[in-house]
Order: sequence, then structure tokens, then C-alpha cells
Amino acid sequence: MNIAAPDSGRLSINTATVRALWGLGEILDGCARHGIRGVSPWRDQVQAMGLQEAAAKVREHGFTVTGYCRGGMFPGATPAERLAARDDNRRAVDEALALGARCLVLVVGGLPKGSKDLAGARGQVRDGIGELLDYARPRGMPLAIEPLHPMYAADRACVNTTAQANDLCDELGDDGLGIALDVYHVWWDPDLPAQVARAGRKRLLAFHVCDWLVPTRDLLLDRGMMGDGVIDVRALRAAVEAQGYDGFHEVEIFSAEDWWKRPPDEVLRTCLERHQACC
Ligand code: ZN
Repeated sequence: MNIAAPDSGRLSINTATVRALWGLGEILDGCARHGIRGVSPWRDQVQAMGLQEAAAKVREHGFTVTGYCRGGMFPGATPAERLAARDDNRRAVDEALALGARCLVLVVGGLPKGSKDLAGARGQVRDGIGELLDYARPRGMPLAIEPLHPMYAADRACVNTTAQANDLCDELGDDGLGIALDVYHVWWDPDLPAQVARAGRKRLLAFHVCDWLVPTRDLLLDRGMMGDGVIDVRALRAAVEAQGYDGFHEVEIFSAEDWWKRPPDEVLRTCLERHQACC
């Protein structure tokens, strides 16, 4: 398949990619210096910098905030835990609004502590998203469900396929609800092409890129740079863009032993190069 290289103006950096050595202020200045137009910050970094200061810097540089990381973690072992998650998610919506984010990314959560009731956890996720929609919809902040690879079902997200995310959109209504599609989590799924088509432009709210390394040495912190692994990132981009997706391509790399140890300017330069060569 011969697919043209992407517009470099549509590269976004998820701030986790360079968070080990830079604070948020340095990340935003660094992205601006490299001509990168999109960013997706994490809540803890925004809180460390201060929400108003972070929002001001985003505006000053004219960034598009392609997503805010993250809301979710809905299941809880007790009503009090679920209530705390509800309140924290509402704060995440408020912060995303202050930053002008295009969506709040939802990593929905896995099994409550001590539980083996996966179906029950998925029910809590559905109810939690439904309740958060009542808050986010009137305020105009879209929620993007991110299906995570099944290896995270216990501790991070029990929504593990694009089909599950589409089912939730069907059930809860896709006004203000969609999907953050991350190639790392969905590349293996034989049903992916059909589910991307089912999602369509309306539900595709974000597109995250990195690569799957062989072997993968750590379940969480060994993601690869695009081109270093086995994912045909360019074909997946073509698939989402065939549905009309015209948003950013967000590089999100957790890499404790490799990219997080390199000088962040080198990482950003590499992101720009690989975006052109491999996305
Ligand atoms: Zn992601």
C-alpha cells in the first residue's frame, strides 16, 4: 500500500513521552521550539505547574490540546470509592475545559481491589461513564473511551476492544462520547477494520501512535518509537482517515529504559522524523 506521509502540522506529543526529564513548562516550550502544534498533557503535570499557568502557556504557544490525560478509573470496591472517582472525574472535565482540550481521555479502570467480577466491573464502567456524561455533555467536553490491550484488564481498563467501546457509545449515545484509538492497544485485533468503520468519523476523537516491540520487556513501560516494532502505523492511520478522521496523530511513549533516558530534544526530533517516515 502506498500512502502519503502525514502533514507534520498534525503531530501531537503526549507529554508522558518526555516527562522523565522535563516538567510541563519545559515540555511545552520544547514542543514549540520544534514546531510541534499539538500536545496532550497529564493531570499530575498540570497540577504540578498550576492549571491557570498551564492553560496560559498553551494559549501563548497556540497549541491544540489533542486530549487531556486522563479521566476514568470508575470501578470501586465500595460506594465511597465510586463517589470519589465520580468527583475526581468531574474535576478532570473542568480542567480539560480550562485547557481547551478536544477531549478527556478515559482509561476506564479494571477490577476493584479483591474482586474477580469482571462483568461487574464492566457494568460499573458503563454506569460511571453514563454519570460523567451527564456532567460533561452540557459543558461541551467530549469523553473519549480508550480501549486498552487485554493485558491491562485487571488493573487499568476492562474495556479492551474497539467493539466494546463502540457498544458503550451505542448504549450511552454518542453525543459527546467517542473513542481514543491507540495503535498500541488495538493493532492485534482482527475485528479492528470493521470496528473503525463502525466508529466512523463522529466517534473517532483521538489517534495515538507508538510501536509494539518484540520482545516487550515491561507490560507498561516498554513502548517503542514508531518504526521500531511490528505495528503498521501508516496503514492504521490510513484506516482512520478513510473514515474522515482529520485530527492529530499523538505520540504516546512510555519507555523507562530507553526513550525516557534520552535527551528530550532528541526524542522530539525523532518523533518528528518517525512521524513523517512511519505514520
Ligand atoms: Zn493512548
